[in-house]
Amino acid sequence: MSEFNVSGTYIWYYCICKREVWLLAHGIEADQQDENMQMGSVIHETAYGRESKEIEFKHSKFDVMSKENGKLIVGEIKKSSRYIDSSRMQLLFYLKELEDNDIVAEGVLLFPEEKKRESIVLDSENRKRLEAIIEGIKGIVAEEYPPAPLQNKYCKKCAYGEFCWA
Ligand code: SF4
Repeated sequence: MSEFNVSGTYIWYYCICKREVWLLAHGIEADQQDENMQMGSVIHETAYGRESKEIEFKHSKFDVMSKENGKLIVGEIKKSSRYIDSSRMQLLFYLKELEDNDIVAEGVLLFPEEKKRESIVLDSENRKRLEAIIEGIKGIVAEEYPPAPLQNKYCKKCAYGEFCWA
């Protein structure tokens, strides 16, 4: 796994299921026939029309990029706040990637159907948490075997369900 790079996708899954991080990183494919194919279904369940409008920067993809009061704002538009913690951490990862390339930005998560928005700032507390997650991902991926399955509320929608629980 010397080629492994942490991406926003791994950050997202780390906040949901650490075992899934290992399975994805080790190329263990989920059941493609599974109607709940998690990778697709969850991301599409939470994101709007990404395919046509998203803005890409290195490993980051944003739905929104604007300037407000002289500040660069990048953001994501979500259908629901169900996976809000994963969304927050993923956006923080993107802010860090921008910062590493000398671009200072703040983030915003938008939930139009819930008439909600949340500002995301890469402050010291978030930075620490993000660093811990990145290290956590690297540690998991470096292991020879995946973490044992832990029943969680996402298992029902996960395409690895049979693999983990059969
Ligand atoms: S079925 Fe549950 S434990 Fe297994 S990878 Fe999916 S979310 Fe994780």
